Amino acid sequence: APYQVADVHELLDSTLLMLSGKIGPRIRVVKDYDRTLPRIPAYPAELNQVWTNLVDNAVSAMNGTGGEGTLTVRTARRDDRLLVEFQDTGPGVPPEIRGRIFDPFFTTKPVGQGTGLGLDISWRIVVNKHHGSLGVESVPGDTRFRVLLPLTATAD
Ligand code: ADP
Ligand code: MG
Repeated sequence: APYQVADVHELLDSTLLMLSGKIGPRIRVVKDYDRTLPRIPAYPAELNQVWTNLVDNAVSAMNGTGGEGTLTVRTARRDDRLLVEFQDTGPGVPPEIRGRIFDPFFTTKPVGQGTGLGLDISWRIVVNKHHGSLGVESVPGDTRFRVLLPLTATAD
């Protein structure tokens, strides 16, 4: 399917609405959007899958520590790319597993609760399908997954 021109904020809002039951009342959601950003070429359904996994992971991480916390979803311009950042106040990604979390089937969740495929799929959608990048920076209390997407179409 060809690229569509997508409004990232609309996609983020619909994902957050879909997941509001899972997010629950004890997690605060902060939207820190740069509303001046243009629409971008994207595969909307696939990007929603990425947001869904990153929000799901953030919520799981915060639920592990009493279920309270703040999820901040941020957009910003970074040169010729659009940044979408998911920040959570959970315990963080331990440095010793940082290099493996994007591997297929890597999970720290109990059997039956995690497939370990979320970040692998997200990586493929962002990097392979959108020519973007996906990274993480994490210390306890401040974990940020960053998606960078080209603002203009890239040839395949
Ligand atoms: P799953 O969610 O099924 O475990 P993922 O590929 O989505 O698989 O994530 C892999 C692992 O990365 C998780 O099991 C967890 O250990 C780690 N992880 C991902 N997101 C976060 C986060 N926001 N905070 C802490 N750890 C995380
Ligand atoms: Mg996951």
